[in-house]
Amino acid sequence: MKNKRIELIKGDITRLDVDAVVNAANNSLLGGGGVDGAIHKAAGPDLYKECESLKGCITGEAKITKGYKLKARHIIHTVGPMWYGGYRDEPGSLASCYQSSLKLAKENKIKTIAFPGISTGVYGFPKDLAALIAINETKRFINRHSLPEKVIFVAYDDDNYETYRKLLDQ
Ligand code: ADP
Repeated sequence: MKNKRIELIKGDITRLDVDAVVNAANNSLLGGGGVDGAIHKAAGPDLYKECESLKGCITGEAKITKGYKLKARHIIHTVGPMWYGGYRDEPGSLASCYQSSLKLAKENKIKTIAFPGISTGVYGFPKDLAALIAINETKRFINRHSLPEKVIFVAYDDDNYETYRKLLDQ
């Protein structure tokens, strides 16, 4: 890992002891499948109540809640783009998810933040391109700001882990 402020781990993001985990939410912010479902299940019903009060979120933007039953103190909910073949500026929207989430983290004095592969599950974004965007946007942000101090990419499977590892070693 060339950048000391970036880490890569394999596993379940709901179990991490960090200041904030990022959720790959949908526009309603009211839960769904994949990592969103896992975060809501682990955090408990009070998360749903706070999410209801937020009145949704636009694609590419992010909103913050408490972490409730998670070890993580906060959850940053960002809405990734669905992949439509690359014709709807999906890369731009995904980049915006990372920028918005990192900005919100900085504003909330978050030191450690963990990201899943936003949009790379049911939203169908190509995993290699998504990892490249995640890494580039993160480097761009942390080069300019001292917070968050540490950004952790969480790969859920071996393939995704290898994709990130290769890009991070370059
Ligand atoms: P999206 O709708 O944004 O595509 P998904 O939840 O379907 O969101 O998938 C996003 C990514 O999160 C996928 O790469 C998936 O493998 C991964 N993922 C699913 N569950 C977890 C988890 N518990 N921890 C970390 N990553 C997860």
